[in-house]
Amino acid sequence: MGAVSIQSVQKTYNKMVVIENLSLTIEDGEFLVLVGPSGCGKSTLLRMIAGLEDISDGQISIAGRLINDLAPKDRDIAMVFQSYALYPHMTVEDNMSFSLRLKRVPKEERDAGVASAAGILGLAPYLKRLPRQLSGGQRQRVAMGRAIVRNPQVYLFDEPLSNLDAKLRVQMRSEIKLNHARLGTTTVYVTHDQIEAMTMADRIVVMNAGKIEQVGSPLELYDRPANLFVAGFIGSPAMNLLYGRGMPEGLKLEDGTVVPMTLSPDALGRDLVAGIRPEHLVIADSGLKAEILTVEPTGAETQIVTRMAGRDVFVSFRERLNLAPGDRLHLKPMGGTIQLFDAESGNRLGQ
Ligand code: ADP
Repeated sequence: MGAVSIQSVQKTYNKMVVIENLSLTIEDGEFLVLVGPSGCGKSTLLRMIAGLEDISDGQISIAGRLINDLAPKDRDIAMVFQSYALYPHMTVEDNMSFSLRLKRVPKEERDAGVASAAGILGLAPYLKRLPRQLSGGQRQRVAMGRAIVRNPQVYLFDEPLSNLDAKLRVQMRSEIKLNHARLGTTTVYVTHDQIEAMTMADRIVVMNAGKIEQVGSPLELYDRPANLFVAGFIGSPAMNLLYGRGMPEGLKLEDGTVVPMTLSPDALGRDLVAGIRPEHLVIADSGLKAEILTVEPTGAETQIVTRMAGRDVFVSFRERLNLAPGDRLHLKPMGGTIQLFDAESGNRLGQ
């Protein structure tokens, strides 16, 4: 079975630690996305699974087999890169069958493998073309086809859609998801794009500075971020963060406004951060005073930036409201939607 077990893995470059004592199990058949800002170590982790980087410390196993010292070709993985990495002088067909030829797989079996992958990816009409005669999306499909024909235990994707335009990215996203549903192969997918992570993953691992901040399903991370980093990273526009202090009457914000709420005893007298998703604020007769700065209709919804308690606060409305910059109004968080974090540690209160 193609589970991947990462145990206490560390990566250092010239004594600089870039992955710190990281442990994670990727279940057999799971689609796991590693997401985080640039430089957080997600590609390094993927490349250690692939065998393209040494593992400084710890252990990685694939399907129960320790792979630390195995060459990439012996790990039973297939990797898809952002750059496609196709052989420019080889046809689509030859690119896709190359690894099978290296393994001396008989021609009939190779052809069947290529035909099957080409069928899945809609590449059958292009098998005799060279990569330069294909669009970006088609090239990325060939890179995926090459991975599929190898029938590996694990697929590793490193930002595979970053070179595509927005529309094609959305299309390829669902194609990759669909292929995963069909093939059921364990997949580890690296991206810096939280929307890609949300839409594709069974589970997301949010990384920051070489460490895991949180692991969970997309909606677990969205609904219950473990800390301010995840709260700010998952969701677009991001969760609004209002700073204040826990008082018996509620949360007293920086400008003195009080958000009435019942706080647990341990939150009283503490510096807190209230997280409110943009879709959880509604217009009310009374509540938090806000001034509209910008109004951005997207069609399906309208994004509004307001100034509230000295901070820019995003609000999204599904209904079409007649609002304009300069308008003043009151906003209220819907009941039970405020998430509280400790300002000092950044951790969620009341797990
Ligand atoms: P991400 O994929 O999340 O953008 P990377 O895994 O590429 O991040 O990089 C993680 C950290 O390791 C970064 O600080 C990067 O500068 C550093 N790093 C990556 N490769 C090397 C290398 N070959 N030598 C030294 N530092 C490296």
